[in-house]
Amino acid sequence: MHHFHYRDGTLHAEDVPLTNIAAEVGTPFYCYSTATLERHYRVFAEAFEGTDTLVCYSVKANSNLAVIKTLGDLGSGADIVSEGELRRALAAGIPPERIVFSGVGKQAPELAFALETGIHQFNVESEPELELLSQIASGMGKEAAIALRVNPDVDAKTHEKITTGKAENKFGISWLQAPRVYARAAELPGIKVAGVDVHIGSQLTDLAPFEEAFTRVASMVEELRAAGHDITRLDLGGGLGIPYRGTNDVPPPPADYAAMVKRTVGHLDCQLMFEPGRMIAGNAGILVVNVIFEKHGEDRSFLIIDGAMNDLIRPTLYDAYHDIQPVTETAPGEPRITYDIVGPICETGDFFAKGRALSAQKPGDLLAVLSAGAYGAVQASTYNTRPLVPEVMVNGSQFTVIRPRPSYDAMLEQDRLPDWLTK
Ligand SMILES: *Cc1c(COP(=O)(O)O)cnc(C)c1O
Repeated sequence: MHHFHYRDGTLHAEDVPLTNIAAEVGTPFYCYSTATLERHYRVFAEAFEGTDTLVCYSVKANSNLAVIKTLGDLGSGADIVSEGELRRALAAGIPPERIVFSGVGKQAPELAFALETGIHQFNVESEPELELLSQIASGMGKEAAIALRVNPDVDAKTHEKITTGKAENKFGISWLQAPRVYARAAELPGIKVAGVDVHIGSQLTDLAPFEEAFTRVASMVEELRAAGHDITRLDLGGGLGIPYRGTNDVPPPPADYAAMVKRTVGHLDCQLMFEPGRMIAGNAGILVVNVIFEKHGEDRSFLIIDGAMNDLIRPTLYDAYHDIQPVTETAPGEPRITYDIVGPICETGDFFAKGRALSAQKPGDLLAVLSAGAYGAVQASTYNTRPLVPEVMVNGSQFTVIRPRPSYDAMLEQDRLPDWLTK
């Protein structure tokens, strides 16, 4: 479900024609729908109504302050993976007691800053991290509530670059080592064992791997309690997928996911924490690009557009499929042309789609790359000295730029010439 629809032949974001935004902001630009963000958060949170639940939006999916604040105003917490993201969450008004710190490589200053702010929980991914956190927390006279991220050795059956819960992945603490590391945590100063954390991957479209992982986690909680640990929280991570291909790959609805969660871990009477990212932001954002050239080669036709892999790396990084729709609606019966839709960068990997059937497009036509709200703008770079794509947020009939396109002067000013080159 999202709020990008044709109205009078033009694709709109909520009540705003995308042509209006393009005329004011220029292309390419990311466009986010407030109504879609809110709807996704609510559908997820409401599935757990009546249980002690903390939904911590995974900031790395889309970390614009306006996105975080939109969700925070609905009661969302934040799952953060760096000091930078923690600063964003705080700046967006998320209370520290709703923030959880994930990540395999947390550094001492980041841990100290998080302790200073008093976040809810640290999800610890290794023994050395546990020792470091203990040392810093006890030095500061603080106590860190922790969960160990356990690796349940379950195959999420998603793309290899977003599978995180197998024994060979760098994430978490292995199943067999976990009881020993919990015992160590219990004796360390500055550490309070609070829960168990698991996150097995992203873009899962099947409940079975979750169910297998959560069932294993439930037995781990019972084993840990039997060993004397006071386990009161369960962080079940994120990972719920979204439909990238319209109605062809429909992931389980949050209500089914919630029923499965209650079935597998409900009896443990823990606070349930979740870290959804993609499920909240993915279909709430699109990337709007402009056609530069239509080029007919020997055996295929190309649309060369002004958006590129530096703006949206998902197609080339994850072999991701993104639905692409012309902003001007295709008339019924209008002939289609099969296009490769590619950017201007000198890399074979610079493409958004291959072999896509669209109505004939000409220079100046606008295309919308759908489902680009998560892992889109946050992974953008300035490769080829292309300015970072601006971000726009729509709310009903209003829109506003929530991150402007930097000027070329601002980009060049970041470089410094050494003295020996300026004599
Ligand atoms: C990336 C990540 C998430 C969010 O994953 P989604 O698939 O976007 O829901 C949650 N928790 C952790 C630890 C992550 O690394």
